[in-house]
Amino acid sequence: MTLTRPRIVVLTGAGISAESGLPTFRDLDGLWRTYRWEELASPEGWRRHPQAVLDFYNQRRAAAWAAQPNAGHRAIAALERGFEVDVVTQNVDGLHERAGSTRVLHLHGEIEYARGTSIRRLRIHLRDQPIVLGQCCADGTQLRPDIVWFGEEVPNIGPAQRLVAMADKVLVVGTSLSVYPAAGLVHHAPPHAEKVVVALDLDTVPGDFRFLRGKAGELLPPLVAEWLHGAGA
Ligand code: NAD
Repeated sequence: MTLTRPRIVVLTGAGISAESGLPTFRDLDGLWRTYRWEELASPEGWRRHPQAVLDFYNQRRAAAWAAQPNAGHRAIAALERGFEVDVVTQNVDGLHERAGSTRVLHLHGEIEYARGTSIRRLRIHLRDQPIVLGQCCADGTQLRPDIVWFGEEVPNIGPAQRLVAMADKVLVVGTSLSVYPAAGLVHHAPPHAEKVVVALDLDTVPGDFRFLRGKAGELLPPLVAEWLHGAGA
């Protein structure tokens, strides 16, 4: 007899990493209040001033590498003791993996990787190292951050939609649900699924989600303990 464990999909955004010291995009100290996103996170910006784009992502890579997972990331990783867990994240910082989550689908890329600018998308692992102008991939094209920029296709959105559609529980953490197509994932949750959203603040809570207002690092450990207890784990 095979016992299948309930499936949880955790959708995360920049807020889960705020307590690790990485700024979110739209909060008061958010990155977009310092830089114009059109200049730093778009193919047009890359064409116009690649050095500024590289400087921006080189700084973010160093900050992400120096950061440590927090209690929120660790609570999500602990869910694997009782559930089939898929983390679908908009974050590029790698903190879910470092907290121990084993299945993480990245919607917007990973800051610790670079790729060439050809469509072959060859990747190299930079860890915390900067990318410099003139540094090429094996196919001879300039390296760029392996980040999905505004206006670019989101290759993992289809697989993410399929995961959400099969979930018994959907947990949304630390996203303003304002960047599409990621924000639309909540609408793929099946009617029977338990749905919870955790955030410091949220303009619009999706229809049948329960809203827990507060810090992920404080709210997730008791929620996860309750769910693991309920699952007999
Ligand atoms: P956002 O900045 O738009 O929204 C952040 C949300 O998190 C807000 O609702 C805020 O109230 C909430 N929040 C802030 N601190 C919190 C905490 N301690 N606990 C719980 N919730 C908290 O972020 P978003 O929705 O992820 O925006 C999307 C874009 O931001 C994506 O493109 C993503 O790639 C990018 N991003 C990623 C990182 C990262 O990898 N760490 C950092 C900044 C931005």
